[in-house]
Amino acid sequence: MSDTHAALHLRHRAVAPDWLALYYREPIELTHGEGRHVWDADGKRYLDFFGGILTTMTAHALPEVTKAVAEQAGRIIHSSTLYLNRPMVELAERVARLSGIPDARVFFTTSGTEANDTALLLATTYRRSNQVLAMRNSYHGRSFSAVGVTGNRSWSPTSLSPLQTLYVHGGVRGRGPFAALSDSEFIDACVADLEDVLGQAHGNVAALIAEPVQGVGGFTAPPDGLYAAFREVLDRHGILWITDEVQTGWGRTGEYFWGWQAHAAAGPPDMLTFAKGIGNGMSIGGVVARAEVMNCLDANSISTFGGSPVTMAAGLANLAYLLENDLQGNARRVGGLLLERLRAASAGNDAVREVRGRGLMIAIELVERDGSPSPNAATAALESARENGLLVGKGGLAGNTLRIAPPLSLTVREAEEGAAILETALRQAQDTIAGKEPS
Ligand code: PMP
Repeated sequence: MSDTHAALHLRHRAVAPDWLALYYREPIELTHGEGRHVWDADGKRYLDFFGGILTTMTAHALPEVTKAVAEQAGRIIHSSTLYLNRPMVELAERVARLSGIPDARVFFTTSGTEANDTALLLATTYRRSNQVLAMRNSYHGRSFSAVGVTGNRSWSPTSLSPLQTLYVHGGVRGRGPFAALSDSEFIDACVADLEDVLGQAHGNVAALIAEPVQGVGGFTAPPDGLYAAFREVLDRHGILWITDEVQTGWGRTGEYFWGWQAHAAAGPPDMLTFAKGIGNGMSIGGVVARAEVMNCLDANSISTFGGSPVTMAAGLANLAYLLENDLQGNARRVGGLLLERLRAASAGNDAVREVRGRGLMIAIELVERDGSPSPNAATAALESARENGLLVGKGGLAGNTLRIAPPLSLTVREAEEGAAILETALRQAQDTIAGKEPS
């Protein structure tokens, strides 16, 4: 480890919580970025295939965003929602239109957690029930309410909750009791499971909250149409559908602008939450809801920093860049190529159980020789990629899945370069499960 990094790591460990995990045996500090690249404090350059957890959505140091932030900061940084705020109104108008939700209202927060917390507050108030449906293996944030709908136990530090949560099956296609079924049988089985769970609830259930593709869970998804089938059941009971688009929004999945659109037969959701990519790193989260649902609170509610002019200016510039340059189309094209390359790179590698994904949201699930999850193989691959100049993420219930989610402006050349580095990393994973020393 370089002295610079080692010294900072020691200071970090002395003041930061133990549960605030760092990547890598020798953690690194990223000091600057440009396009799809970042540099560490020693000047080593990396191709960034994780974008600070799917948050650097367009590119690092995008001049349009930097300029918008600097100009807004030079005018006024903060005023609060007590005063009219032009950038906030403009971004709300654009997001409302894009959401597909009719008669939409938008409330801005500072994080995905707070966005989901708001959606849960709205749903439970609107429906006068604290019973909520969530998916197994889900992640919705770190607050007391958000961990109460987070099925992934490694991210849910307490079972105490203000909510009564009923976990439904269906977010994970490739594992669990229904894995061997065909897509349509899988959907039927999950619908039957949902009906069964609802039969055991007390009266009203407020909402189903679900990620269209589970992010932290390891980019796992149901077959297309599952949530449309769920919606028919939910509608019969008046239960709201909240789609958590914190990772899947803004064209990340290539084919669709929102993840819920893979289940479009159901029509738009009642509520949509977003965060991460829209601010390109500036802290923007939010919830979109039908006016009737959004307006159901009969007390004041405010987020002091939500909708702050600087973050909104960044969001507007970032969204304009995304739309004008059709980065959704780029995610579809370059993501398709990257998926193909990664499948080829994994062929014959018995550490790889599955390469899956859509657009620029791709996962590689790693296993031991007996098929059990291999967090060790994932760690080995992550380290190898970093040594060779590529940053990727990890996820999955056991931390055994590589998560690949570069900025949506990724070029074909960069995709090929990254895939080559990952091929070496996957060989390292294979050596790891075979018990060989790192080469
Ligand atoms: N929902 C999903 C699907 C997420 O992936 C995350 C963050 N990983 C959150 C909510 C919480 O967002 P934040 O960390 O901004 O609070």
